[in-house]
Amino acid sequence: MITRNECLDWDQHDPLKNFKNDFALPKDVIYLDGNSLGARPKKSLTLAEQVITQEWGQDLINSWNKADWWGLPTRVGDKIATLIGAAAGETVVSDSTTVNLFKVLSAAVQIQADSDAQRKVIIAERDAFPTDIYIIEGYIDLIQKGYVLKLIDSVAELESTLKHNDVAVVVLSHVNYRTGYFYDMADINRLVHQHGGLLIWDLCHSVGAVPMDLKKTDSDFAIGCTYKYLNGGPGSPALLWVNPKHQNQFKQPLSGWWGHQKPFDMAQSYTPAEGIRRYLCGTQPILSMSLIEAGVDIFLASDMDQIRSKSLKLTDLFIDLMQQECADHEFELITPTDYRHRGSHVSFRHTHGYAIIQALIARGVIGDYREPEVLRFGVTPLYIGYCDIWDAVQQIKQVMQHEEWKAPQYQIRGQVT
Ligand SMILES: *Cc1c(COP(=O)(O)O)cnc(C)c1O
Repeated sequence: MITRNECLDWDQHDPLKNFKNDFALPKDVIYLDGNSLGARPKKSLTLAEQVITQEWGQDLINSWNKADWWGLPTRVGDKIATLIGAAAGETVVSDSTTVNLFKVLSAAVQIQADSDAQRKVIIAERDAFPTDIYIIEGYIDLIQKGYVLKLIDSVAELESTLKHNDVAVVVLSHVNYRTGYFYDMADINRLVHQHGGLLIWDLCHSVGAVPMDLKKTDSDFAIGCTYKYLNGGPGSPALLWVNPKHQNQFKQPLSGWWGHQKPFDMAQSYTPAEGIRRYLCGTQPILSMSLIEAGVDIFLASDMDQIRSKSLKLTDLFIDLMQQECADHEFELITPTDYRHRGSHVSFRHTHGYAIIQALIARGVIGDYREPEVLRFGVTPLYIGYCDIWDAVQQIKQVMQHEEWKAPQYQIRGQVT
């Protein structure tokens, strides 16, 4: 039997416990949705004030140089680089993950077409975050070159599809948004490369959640959100990383002036910038992008291995407590128990998942719901402790024992679920 006192003890001995003070969280809320929208770093307010009143208010247009707004996409990119195993100058922050996928997909397809035009298959996961599939479909329709999308359901299917040696590009989520399944980056890169493919990693549910080394594992391309585990703020622009071996090999098709070699020459034709800046497109949302630093700086003051180790203990605790306290209530765990394949959230399937999540939110436990029937609880070790997990599971137990989820108001679907 696990007790609340044990959880208290683990909290007291937690080397990361003080990081919670860096976040502004509402009282009486246990926030288990930092994998969807990260909590607000306290510093974001002073940073926003500085950008709005000083940089914009006082220095006006001079801030492009004076505050180096121009360099912000690569400055923030270089900070994120340390969390993903990249060197300086390889990562840029810009646009959304969705748009960035379009850019790197185009790049990868073009590189492959230049070396082996017979490769016409693009692989994605059936269970991918749907925007990835939509973008691949849209891209294939746009270019009209006979590419086909093949959806796979497992690593075994990935392997058997690759064996035909007609795969150009593979797009995979490093950690699956629904189940939390976590790929071994080195193994998968090796497998895809052995069969002549290029790989794009979607890091949305892994950056800031698990340690990784894009360079050492010989990855090709990566994209990912900054508003999830990195706590960059709602809709903050996304990261894009390219292995330097691919960087100057092609142009990306969203060839806007910000990716031009000399934007202020106002030249009449496009010449891409050298290096990662060619992935920029138009003028960046400076306010939103500035705030990413507040979130990333907290990570830089912490330690990714400690974060991983605490994340695994927290997800273990969640799984064990659900077994101990809620075994009668028909929750089916769909997150892998194997550490090698577990990300930083825990998901359960339940027929009444949607209503249960609504009843939990009313009790101050914020998780979320994903079709079909999945309750998802994000674990963010910088601001979630062991007692939080204990208390959350007790609330789940209450909701189930008293059948609170049956109340009519919990059946109503909002525009965003
Ligand atoms: C959140 C998420 C996205 C969506 O990114 P946008 O910011 O909406 O472009 C894409 N892929 C995965 C795996 C995600 O979790």
